[in-house]
Amino acid sequence: MAKRDYSNTGVNTRLAHIGNDPHDFHGFVNPPVVHASTVLFPNAETALGRVVKAKYVYGTHGTPTTEALGNAIDALEGSAGTILVPSGLAAVTVPLLGFLSAGDHILIVDSVYGPTRRFADTMLTRLGIEVQYYDPLVGGGIAKLMKPNTKVVFTESPGSVTFEIQDIPAIVEAAHAGGAIVMMDNTWATPLYFKALDHGVDVTIHAATKYPGGHSDVLLGTVSANAACWERLHQAYLTLGVCAGPEQVYQVLRGLRTMGVRLERHQKSALDIARWLEKQPGVARVLHPGLESHPGHAIFKRDFSGSSGIFSIVLAGGGQTQANAFLNALEIFGIGYSWGGFESLAVPVVLTDRTVAKGPYEGAVIRLQIGLEDVEDLKADISRGLAAARG
Ligand SMILES: *Cc1c(COP(=O)(O)O)cnc(C)c1O
Repeated sequence: MAKRDYSNTGVNTRLAHIGNDPHDFHGFVNPPVVHASTVLFPNAETALGRVVKAKYVYGTHGTPTTEALGNAIDALEGSAGTILVPSGLAAVTVPLLGFLSAGDHILIVDSVYGPTRRFADTMLTRLGIEVQYYDPLVGGGIAKLMKPNTKVVFTESPGSVTFEIQDIPAIVEAAHAGGAIVMMDNTWATPLYFKALDHGVDVTIHAATKYPGGHSDVLLGTVSANAACWERLHQAYLTLGVCAGPEQVYQVLRGLRTMGVRLERHQKSALDIARWLEKQPGVARVLHPGLESHPGHAIFKRDFSGSSGIFSIVLAGGGQTQANAFLNALEIFGIGYSWGGFESLAVPVVLTDRTVAKGPYEGAVIRLQIGLEDVEDLKADISRGLAAARG
């Protein structure tokens, strides 16, 4: 059978075939789950690795299983290399530790994922790194915030829980002009709906826990880099020793095969529900960049090729009591963190640590993850919540 290059096929064809070649392992469709610390060398010269290099040297450095998922992510991202780490949060902390030193300055978007902020405010600050937050709508205006020691501009678009859209190409241009690299937490869009490296981002981060995993049963992070940043990222990964376990890597590769069709469904259901929510009594606003009413919609349409299944609603007036009434009345939506799985979830949104991107909002903010259930059932559940919130 002839080898096929999948780089020019449709995305679902690619998702079905990228990563591993079945004929490399007796024709089995899926790669083996390799459990490994030790890898034996054929002789002492290969163990020294100076002249003759072995393909695999130790469990922390990679196995046929991690190689399959890493290759698949590289094929989707167009990256020079990808590291696999034990969680989405580690996919944020490892590249930051790899690229920042004492005395450096980092600009972080104010609508960043909460635990990223905690890491920056505690560990990065303790290590002597100057942390500054910026308005998600800053665009090219980031040039004014750049300092001679700015090494990283950290982006996340749309923003966590409030879904502001960033002008990534404008930020990239200004950051590069000032000598900084751009990292992006691209978890929301996945590489299917936003091609971060094509937009000039240097290092792209995914909580593979979300859509790639897709079943609320696995934690994994991926970090991919362009050619200029790959070696430094790879060295940070090897130095820190934060490698993902084989079962988790395998589960994410398994999830990736169906991510395209799952995302189509998440996208369609979430947009349908978001449009419907805009007309419901008790809802002041729907924070979904795919809606024409969203302030970032024009940039969203320019840069993204699709939207995923998570967005927020702002209740019309009231506070935590109304939000709690909404959440407690839900029967299908679970109350719980994370997202990207098959099931619908809702969580209260807290914005007290924000410095810029904190509203004002008309009432309590609630984040909804729209799962794969039938839309009519989900609407009925949300209606129960809204009725309870109206009291
Ligand atoms: C969930 C999430 C993470 C962290 O992923 P975990 O695997 O849960 O650690 C990072 N960034 C964003 C935007 C997320 O939503």
